[in-house]
Amino acid sequence: MKVTEHIERANGKTLFSFEVLPPRKGENIQNLFSNIEPLMEFKPPFIDVTYHREEYVYRQHPNGFLEKKTVRKRPGTVGICAAIKNRFDVDTVPHLICGGFSKEETENALIDLHFLGIDSVLALRGDPIKSEGTFKPHEDGHAYASDLIGQVKSLNKGEYLDEKQDDTWATNFCIGTAGYPEKHFEAPNYGADIRYLRHKVDRGADYIVTQMFFDNEHFFKFEKSCRDAGITVPIIPGLKPLTTKSQLTMLPRTFFLDLPEPLVEAISQCRDNEAARQVGIEWCINQSKELMAHGVPSLHYYSMGKSESIRRVASELF
Ligand code: FAD
Repeated sequence: MKVTEHIERANGKTLFSFEVLPPRKGENIQNLFSNIEPLMEFKPPFIDVTYHREEYVYRQHPNGFLEKKTVRKRPGTVGICAAIKNRFDVDTVPHLICGGFSKEETENALIDLHFLGIDSVLALRGDPIKSEGTFKPHEDGHAYASDLIGQVKSLNKGEYLDEKQDDTWATNFCIGTAGYPEKHFEAPNYGADIRYLRHKVDRGADYIVTQMFFDNEHFFKFEKSCRDAGITVPIIPGLKPLTTKSQLTMLPRTFFLDLPEPLVEAISQCRDNEAARQVGIEWCINQSKELMAHGVPSLHYYSMGKSESIRRVASELF
């Protein structure tokens, strides 16, 4: 079932969902399953699986020449989604990104997903890879998530890259897109970012999942700005319990977000990471309660590979 169908069926009740990272190459899928298992008691209707782009490395040959090599660090999201779906009988939402993909490769992934009965995708641009600096699209790929959304939407009408088919060939994907309560770091300003988001919805996005935030006021302002801009699709807040003291600097640096002063103060005073984790969990529970009372369709938790803190948050709420 699609994400939007799960939301409709919930009839105003807030759902619980989360995202997992594909394991690093060489790891066994059992590790991933053991991470998901403790969260299944909270009955997530869908689980997202992120996509991690390959990186480039340069190998020097004896003659001095440098060879550019592509290194893939994690197994493919499509296969992992299928494995989780079958193991836990739950819907999975693969993240699709523009970076590193030609339109043809994207179409092939969508054909595989459709065949596997996976009917929601989160369409993203992806971040620049380390060696790039700024984002560079594949020469036959998409520059923005809105263009990727357009491709999925065309496939939903039976329009493949090289052939137009009748309705029996059409896919039926529900499309999610990313939103940034504190503005995407590259957007010239907040208003422009909302306009681009509106454009993604106009191209066919059915729902929005936000970047993590730690102050609900950012979400409330963002949601209002979206509604004022005519965006009517469901907006799902993304949350993460802070788990270590080092995240005080890592999260703002990586995700371009602001941590509220009371949270920073409380974490700074913690003697060790276990104390910091407890503060992070309590903060996340309070954020979640307020968002539930506000009536958000789902609370979407970023696991970043670890589920224990999310389990402790969810056990207070679901
Ligand atoms: P876009 O919507 O294309 O926006 C990118 C930038 O361009 C923004 O600044 C926007 O304002 C601007 N823009 C948009 N459209 C236009 C236009 N037409 N003209 C000019 N400017 C425009 N990354 C991964 O690699 N893998 C993942 O699995 C992953 N999952 C994520 C899940 C969520 C919920 C979120 C919020 C982010 C995720 N990301 C992931 C990170 C995401 O890929 C990055 O934030 C990326 O930099 C932007 O992606 P986007 O889809 O928001 O891009």
